[in-house]
Amino acid sequence: MNNSTQIASHLLRSRIGKLCVVIIGASPNEMIEKATEVLKESNFLEFRLDYLAKPLAALPGTQSPLSPDMSSAINTGGSAPNPVVGGAQLATQAAATITSLEKMIGPFPFSALALTQRPGTDSQGWPGMIFLSSYVYLTPAEREAQHVSAADNVLFGEVMMPHEVAHQWFGDRVSWASYHEQWLLEAIANYSALMLVEPRHPVYEQVMLEAYRQLLAAKSKDGLAFVEAGPVTLGIRLSSSKFPAGYEIITYGRGTWLLHMLREMFRDASRTAENPEGSDQVFLGWLRSLYDRYQGKEITNADFERSLEEVLPKPLWFEDRRSLDWFFDGWVNGTAFPRFEIKDARFSTKSGKPLVSATLRQLDAPDDLVTSVPVYGVVGDNKIYLGRVFAEGQETRISLPLPAGVKRLVLDPNQTVLTAP
Ligand SMILES: [Zn+2]
Repeated sequence: MNNSTQIASHLLRSRIGKLCVVIIGASPNEMIEKATEVLKESNFLEFRLDYLAKPLAALPGTQSPLSPDMSSAINTGGSAPNPVVGGAQLATQAAATITSLEKMIGPFPFSALALTQRPGTDSQGWPGMIFLSSYVYLTPAEREAQHVSAADNVLFGEVMMPHEVAHQWFGDRVSWASYHEQWLLEAIANYSALMLVEPRHPVYEQVMLEAYRQLLAAKSKDGLAFVEAGPVTLGIRLSSSKFPAGYEIITYGRGTWLLHMLREMFRDASRTAENPEGSDQVFLGWLRSLYDRYQGKEITNADFERSLEEVLPKPLWFEDRRSLDWFFDGWVNGTAFPRFEIKDARFSTKSGKPLVSATLRQLDAPDDLVTSVPVYGVVGDNKIYLGRVFAEGQETRISLPLPAGVKRLVLDPNQTVLTAP
């Protein structure tokens, strides 16, 4: 999922007819069986079969995928997973994931999918085949015994497999045009996985988003926050001697947040009196049509922006223009990681209707940053959605109509905008 081998392989895949890959199994027979099965589907692959009785034990220590630059090495010397038991369970889960993703995106693009274990923390997807981290095959308790952090436990237990399966659509069937779009396919695959997790375990989505936020804020050895490594569109160039894990942290961390911001903006824009929570209909319709349009093709960041603008809800038209340039300039092609503050709120009544005006401050942000920020009013224990406002630069004066009883405002209580911790 997130190492340099994968990136190299992604790049190689579109250019080389035959590839040599490694396949792992519990026994030599199992491996030959798997290899034969996969060869039926992907005849451009060549196999090198390496048999390891205890794949985890073969590794001296593996770093945590959610903290790749940190020294919290996971102990891999303990018990190796039993791939027969875990494999059967995983096959059932993968089948259910395919069904859900078909509903969300469209028909599964290949005739079969093979999952095979890969020792260590990384996973990697190919058309019709996935190398899945051996940690995915463990139970949560087994992972805890291996000193896997809470966020990594969610990653291995709930996100990694659906992430790799989603790549069958976005990554394997829709390709990136250049390294500038690596982030886009990773973010779509990762966010699709989170959207599948959300209805069952809403808290897990929050755990992942919070882990990504903390990683973006984490400091490199030189004391620089990783968010400074650059915008998502720099792709593999984000990793450097200054930011050794720059690619992973920005692509997966910031990339996932950008998709989350878009989805939440679209949902807020669909709120009506009849449907006060809003819906994901427009966002999911967009995702499906993006796949329809670009399957079998390469996608650019410009295509991505244009496709969103075609369905852009009116509340997201900054300065009355059907454009997402404001979002792409500051958030996609920029490194914004601001904080927000509301002050000087004045409650009044105009023609008998209560309203509030206040100053919205955007801190630690570029002067030209534009952000859509949801504002809520507090009544007792409830937070009522009042609307979204554009924060422009450091200070913006805002004004919103109010339901009765609101005496206090809060910004984005549901964490839908990427902010510094
Ligand atoms: Zn991926």
